Amino acid sequence: MAEVVVRAAAKINLHLEVLGLRPDGFHELAMVMQSIDLCDELVLAPTADASLQLSCDHPFLPTDGSNLILRAAALLRGRSGLPELGARMQLRKRIPIGAGLAGGSSNGAAALVGLNCLWGLGLGPGLLAELAAELGSDMPFCLDGGTQLCFGRGERLEPLAAPASAPAVLLIKHPEASVSTPWAYGRCREQCSDRYLHTEADFERRREALRRGALLGALQEGLAWPALRNDLQPVVASELPVVAEGLAILQRANGALATAMSGSGPSLFAVFDTIAAARAACDQLRAPLAEAGFEAWSCATISDGVRVVSE
Ligand code: C5P
Repeated sequence: MAEVVVRAAAKINLHLEVLGLRPDGFHELAMVMQSIDLCDELVLAPTADASLQLSCDHPFLPTDGSNLILRAAALLRGRSGLPELGARMQLRKRIPIGAGLAGGSSNGAAALVGLNCLWGLGLGPGLLAELAAELGSDMPFCLDGGTQLCFGRGERLEPLAAPASAPAVLLIKHPEASVSTPWAYGRCREQCSDRYLHTEADFERRREALRRGALLGALQEGLAWPALRNDLQPVVASELPVVAEGLAILQRANGALATAMSGSGPSLFAVFDTIAAARAACDQLRAPLAEAGFEAWSCATISDGVRVVSE
């Protein structure tokens, strides 16, 4: 196969609840993740010399072996038992880095899907999801994307039907602010572990509350949006004033149904009924966002994550 092009979508967290600490040191989470149409693109082509090469149009993104694309490629090739396979991969980066939008995880998921196709391995979705979970907690979600409940470390997925009428978001991020995910969870543990739950029965009660809660009513039945919950938001906001500043601006948007930080931040979003309303809010808030130095994107919510766009 000459070339495969894969689209990798960003996600936002409509809910992020830290339930407790797991024996493996990760946090037990209850989340609702939602894919949005802010996408990176990965172009893959075979190499003849069994090399794995990565280039990127973003000057600050590391393209060494720490990049999840190269880690995914090495893992997939290792499991294939075909060491002669190689690939040249070019990333067009649009999703902001260190933003809580799963840009890196989505890129890794795109590499798994794209290389499975390029190399003709024929691995099924279950096996790809297992490899994804080995590489990162958000990566299994990124494969299929859409709207999903995510439990465990984030890898236990319960897909939801596409929202009754797909909402849209105005997403903002300050270009000079970024958050490391391990740092955010570490601070959460320091500040909040006295409130953590400890038993599987308690975890399951919270999962069930989310399955039956007002957020799913808003998404699936068009009921009123509740306030959104992200347990990392107060932790990150206490260190980054830009979080409270951005949320205060978003809360002034006409037609905003809810606002929150995404993941471990510091990107922030407001939810709207339609993409037209999100674009109108972007225009309405252009001056205060620019004055505070925020970048802004009006995004549709979408019902898939990684997609092969040409092969
Ligand atoms: O799995 P991933 O590599 O994305 O996680 C990055 C870091 O975020 C972990 O090393 C851990 O510190 C933290 N984390 C966590 N609990 C989770 C997911 C991530 O504590 N469920």
